[in-house]
Amino acid sequence: MVEASKHWFEKACSHAPCNTLIHPWTQKCTDATASMLMSCIKGSYKFYAMVYLIQILMKGKKLGKQEMIEQFKLYLKSGIFGLTVGSSFVTLNCIFRALFFSKFSYYTTVLLPCTVSGLAVYFEPPYRRVMVVNLFVNLVFEYWLRTLEMKGWLRRSPGKETFIFMLGSAAFFYLMRLERENTKRTPLFWFFTPPRVSKEVGEPVIGIKGRSPACPHKGNCINYVLKGTAQLFGVGCLMTTLRTILPRILTPTKALKSLRLSHLKLGLFFGGYIGIYRLVICLLCRTYGKDSALYALPAGFFAGAALRASPSTPIALAPVTSSFQILGSWAYQKGMIPEHWPLVELLYCLCQGLLFHARVMHEDVCPRYIINLMHTVTSSKADEIQAAFIQRILRTL
Ligand SMILES: [Zn+2]
Ligand SMILES: [Zn+2]
Repeated sequence: MVEASKHWFEKACSHAPCNTLIHPWTQKCTDATASMLMSCIKGSYKFYAMVYLIQILMKGKKLGKQEMIEQFKLYLKSGIFGLTVGSSFVTLNCIFRALFFSKFSYYTTVLLPCTVSGLAVYFEPPYRRVMVVNLFVNLVFEYWLRTLEMKGWLRRSPGKETFIFMLGSAAFFYLMRLERENTKRTPLFWFFTPPRVSKEVGEPVIGIKGRSPACPHKGNCINYVLKGTAQLFGVGCLMTTLRTILPRILTPTKALKSLRLSHLKLGLFFGGYIGIYRLVICLLCRTYGKDSALYALPAGFFAGAALRASPSTPIALAPVTSSFQILGSWAYQKGMIPEHWPLVELLYCLCQGLLFHARVMHEDVCPRYIINLMHTVTSSKADEIQAAFIQRILRTL
């Protein structure tokens, strides 16, 4: 793949007319805007159909009629967000080029218009903005990590990623347990939410039977630990199975044959993560006869080791990002950040500009998720634009 450095990009593309660079499929800027809009309406609603479906499934309960209507309204709004971001790239570039810059430059071609179009995040309700920012900040961390690796400054490895995940999980679970006492909670999207700190106190418990009065659950501890493990193990396996079988749904025998033992890995991670967490919490409650938010530190740390079964860079970084999110929401509530500052929205704009810039200029280190996202939302128009960029640069080399 080609890495478009500032030098090569400007040498190859700065004098190109916008129809060869930004909308290679049509001559006229107005036609380009219209066709891009159509592609993005289709792509954006397709993308969000998947997102909303997964979200409803993850909630794990049937929706009433009123909730269905509510979800559908949110779906329509999210779609507008996606199609505005996707389609405005072409239009903003044609306008910027005609009005302000007579040529394309490294920073004003993707970074600037995509930072501006991030303002479309206002179509989403505030709690969804927070979640989208969390996702994008995490992707920026991944992008930086990949960049450092490409420059030879560090090497990613499953062992190192697991260690980061262990430290991150320790901090994140501790903050989540403190956050449970908060009345204005920030929306978090995680495998499971730890129960609030129990106020009951009792004598230490010896042996493995029953439960300690301080345990943050009903029933006995063994059941509690095993039930969580089995449930999330099932969810993990189901997700992998669906991902493997769905593309081959028309050839059922082939689909079943494609299942392997290695497909249990995600299940092992999910199940191990919750199982170890619950086990450590219960052991501590039984030993000391009282519960404390601090128990989340060792519990989260050891639970994090489960990621070794199914290593992943974005997941390794996720608890760190979400810890920042909780700290950020506390800073807002304590008045350290003035309430009227649109920090979330600005952060989103910056992340979007940076990531889309990476998609076009530094494809090698761009997170996979962004490449797929742009492909889906623009109905593959993004790939056409990308190909035009690369071709021009290759011709100059
Ligand atoms: Zn144009
Ligand atoms: Zn227990």
